[in-house]
Amino acid sequence: MDLNALIRDVPDFPKPGVLFKDITPLLADPKAFGYVVARMAAHYAKASLGAIAAAEARGFLFAAPLALELNLPLVPLRKPGKLPYKTHSFRYDLEYGSAELHMHIDGVAAGARVLLVDDVLATGGTMAAAGKLIEQAGGTVAGCAFLIELGFLGGRAHLPGYEVFSLLTY
Ligand code: IMP
Repeated sequence: MDLNALIRDVPDFPKPGVLFKDITPLLADPKAFGYVVARMAAHYAKASLGAIAAAEARGFLFAAPLALELNLPLVPLRKPGKLPYKTHSFRYDLEYGSAELHMHIDGVAAGARVLLVDDVLATGGTMAAAGKLIEQAGGTVAGCAFLIELGFLGGRAHLPGYEVFSLLTY
């Protein structure tokens, strides 16, 4: 299936000089969306996973159907102030300033093998922070799955020791 045709390039979003990969045409095509989830599910079918975690917001779009497909718990990783119960948190640096990811303290069982999912691997900062958060909570990162990897940004270098799976690489 030609997924490339369903990824729209939007120049200068969210700021000048950035070529944004817009996945909404793919989301609007149930056959293609289902194919992506099935490919991810097949790749991790025998990975002995304990949970699937994803950072808001677009990571949720793939993590939720994948968790159902693999019959696994879904763990949302969220920005500060969004989760109602007690949380673990991890702060990380951005190009300008910093950000923080939170997870409920009962989100991941000790020793659980957790698959991290996101739509796009860019610099790898978000996924590296998600991995640290999982590890801080006593889990291990069993892999990182993406629809798109922006290879020219070298995000994999920020995920050393993690298995990385992506369906499309630019
Ligand atoms: P990173 O932390 O630099 O790897 O950025 C990854 C995050 O930014 C992901 O959660 C993506 O949703 C988002 N992102 C970065 N670039 C793009 C893009 O071109 N299209 C869609 N999302 C992007």
